[in-house]
Amino acid sequence: MQSFDVVIIGAGAAGLFCGSVAGQLGLKVLIIDHSEKVAEKIRISGGGRCNFTNRDTSAANFLGNNPNFCRSALARYTPQDFLALLHRHGVAWHEKHKGQLFCDQSAEDIIRLLLAECDAGGVTRWQPCSVQSISFSDASLGRTSSSSYALDTSRGPVQAACLVVACGGLSIPKIGASDLGYRIARQFELPVIAPRPALVPLTFDAAAWAPFAELAGLALPVHIETGGKKDSTSFAEDLLFTHRGLSGPGVLQISSYWAPGTPIRLNLAPLQQLPGWLARAKTASRRLISNELGALVPARLADAWVAQGASLGHDWLRPINEATDKALAALAERLANWALTPTGTEGYRKAEVTAGGVDTRALSGQTMESRQPGLYFIGEVVDVTGWLGGYNFQWAWASGFACAQAMAARLRPTANAA
Ligand SMILES: Cc1cc2nc3c(=O)[nH]c(=O)nc-3n(C[C@H](O)[C@H](O)[C@H](O)COP(=O)(O)OP(=O)(O)OC[C@H]3O[C@@H](n4cnc5c(N)ncnc54)[C@H](O)[C@@H]3O)c2cc1C
Repeated sequence: MQSFDVVIIGAGAAGLFCGSVAGQLGLKVLIIDHSEKVAEKIRISGGGRCNFTNRDTSAANFLGNNPNFCRSALARYTPQDFLALLHRHGVAWHEKHKGQLFCDQSAEDIIRLLLAECDAGGVTRWQPCSVQSISFSDASLGRTSSSSYALDTSRGPVQAACLVVACGGLSIPKIGASDLGYRIARQFELPVIAPRPALVPLTFDAAAWAPFAELAGLALPVHIETGGKKDSTSFAEDLLFTHRGLSGPGVLQISSYWAPGTPIRLNLAPLQQLPGWLARAKTASRRLISNELGALVPARLADAWVAQGASLGHDWLRPINEATDKALAALAERLANWALTPTGTEGYRKAEVTAGGVDTRALSGQTMESRQPGLYFIGEVVDVTGWLGGYNFQWAWASGFACAQAMAARLRPTANAA
């Protein structure tokens, strides 16, 4: 049986980065992944340019049962640290909206960087390789001199003192997502918060959506909100109409907080105080209401909006100076406070991430080690979910770094003493 200090399951962002750091700290590392290709999610991320971090990352950009869990790891490996690594590899990048950092050229630059870092740490990688079973020999029971994990894999048996689970969540099954991480947690009696698709488009009942389906492709800036009065969450981002519902950054963000059966609320003209704006337009214009609205929202949306009036008991198809104050107040309310209840999401097929995962109450926020000695969980498999905007990769880097440091301190305490 081949023997390593560390076996990492998952050659994605978290697994590759953790492996490279652990290897460079002197550990003998094996990374196993059942996919043929390495780091497919990095390759397709950020529209092929990988939004690899966010300049303004903090615990406030993450959700999970314990929002403070990620604090320690994020503080010890920051966006600046990752930028320094990019600089060493000559990877050019640029900042977009709200602190989001992207590669100038291609996401492949990040994959090349991670593979080069793994090479520098002498990391072995088995791909494709599937894990058939995992067992733990507990030294405290006296049968072995040191505790270790033994894995049966499609490339033969292997053992290691530390096992790192970095096999992500359930999003995008067609590029290799699986529930192995959750199964390993359950095997070792660690709790798992029910996974659910997040950063995902929302869908609506086909009949109810019919009047808006023709707006597919239309994008506009909105204010979007969900939750009750005391626990509401909101974002000011773009919205995109689709044939089946709503997408775009604002909707992906809110989807992570949306609870099935509850409404979302949209302000489609967030930059104006609508009642006053419409009242002024009524005194100053004889144009159709839809033409006036066209100054605030895209013309296609303005047309679709006034067309709904009849079914809501209002005549919005007339010149604005002929509209009643009541009709204009109803129009303002519908546009600025549009409440609608999604029937569901586009599911893991389209979700950028999986919320939920291995319960952080069973993990150390300093080391990522679980209650089960020598068993670590990093990246998306953990119940830590970032907003859209580079936060999920920053979590992958930071949790992988904390884990690698902890394993080196445990297995090579003198070599790596600061
Ligand atoms: C379309 C898309 C775009 C995204 N864009 C961004 C972005 O721009 N910025 C950002 O911060 N985040 C983005 N994300 C989210 C980000 O990709 C993930 O949060 C991140 O990749 C998680 O890293 P990870 O290493 O934990 O898991 P993953 O990257 O998912 O890696 C897990 C690895 O484990 C392997 N694996 C799974 N099951 C098994 C098994 N049974 N046996 C062996 N190996 C297994 C998989 O093949 C995979 O290689 C995007 C996600 C998607 C889907």
